[in-house]
Amino acid sequence: MQNHRAFPERLERRFASVWTLSVRFVGRFEGARARSSRASSATVHQLTMVSMGRIDTIRGKILGDASTRVRPWHLPSRSLPSQSRSKGPASRFVPKDLVWEGWVRRARPTTRISRRANTTKARSAAATLAMAKKDTDVWQTRVDLAATYRLCDRMGYNEGICNHLTAMVPGSEDQFLVIPYGMAWSEVTASSLLLVDGKGNVLEGEGTVEDTAFYIHSRIHLYDPKNRGCVLHTHMPWSTALCCLKDMKLEMCHQNCLRFYNSIAYDTEFNGLVLNQNEADRLNSVMENKHVLFHANHGVIVVGPNVAEAFDDLYYLERAAQVTVLAMSTGRPLNIISDEVAHKFQEDLKNGKNEWATLHFESRKRELLAGDDADFCT
Ligand SMILES: [Zn+2]
Repeated sequence: MQNHRAFPERLERRFASVWTLSVRFVGRFEGARARSSRASSATVHQLTMVSMGRIDTIRGKILGDASTRVRPWHLPSRSLPSQSRSKGPASRFVPKDLVWEGWVRRARPTTRISRRANTTKARSAAATLAMAKKDTDVWQTRVDLAATYRLCDRMGYNEGICNHLTAMVPGSEDQFLVIPYGMAWSEVTASSLLLVDGKGNVLEGEGTVEDTAFYIHSRIHLYDPKNRGCVLHTHMPWSTALCCLKDMKLEMCHQNCLRFYNSIAYDTEFNGLVLNQNEADRLNSVMENKHVLFHANHGVIVVGPNVAEAFDDLYYLERAAQVTVLAMSTGRPLNIISDEVAHKFQEDLKNGKNEWATLHFESRKRELLAGDDADFCT
């Protein structure tokens, strides 16, 4: 006998399959794109969101708007109560109070369901706005930097509204993008980022640039705009824990640490907030040509030629610091890797670093697009 619930449930499952296949397809496309560099990430994002938007629209037309709030494939396998079975779309099978107060809530927290509804709206908004933007390098940098703010927020690298992540505008010698003062990292979108010049003038966007952000980041960018296209400063906990030790050195005790073999500068002098150019220049002089700075009693700075490589290094730096601090906490001696192996590791890393970083960053952006941070690229 035909189960009235089965038809829309099967339909919804079909949509779930289409969704999954779409994500896989776009994921493979992105991977190929990263290798060939023929298409920009913005283009891929547009494709992703258009696909998602169309699937949601089709589902909404067939099953009704309420189906976006309650998706049968999220429901538990047990049967619906008999009084809820009737003909009609999925949303009509379950009385409203039963959906929100009964077993559906127990199966999936209400907040989870609400987030999915918001995510759908965000995808639609993102698709519209992303399609309206020109696919330029500048816009791509905005998208990548906004993604980095969201990712770092998810990973707990931020602290209040402090710390800043910046990226040089392609083709410019002194203009960079930065979060407006007072905005949370979780709120950053590509279009909300400020465009600032080397003198602190806001050229695009609404808001002001925070003083320490301007001094630290402008001086580091300007020192070598080509190789310092992205500057990430955080107080992320494991790395910052090392900055609080008399001996801040990141020991080469794990494979992740080897990524930073001979790449870290250690500034043992802390003079409070960096609120003037002299202190910013002093930090810069300690950093010299290294791409990581440990600043005593403060935090870390990671630089890279582009956002993807800087993010990749920031991520692995925190992982390296985490495993090191955990190993140190045992009180037993660290097993240090030899210079010979560390040197070979660095040589091997050079061959694939850019590709690994790009693929890693693109995968993280796909995670954002699939969740409630999908509006980062708007
Ligand atoms: Zn700081």
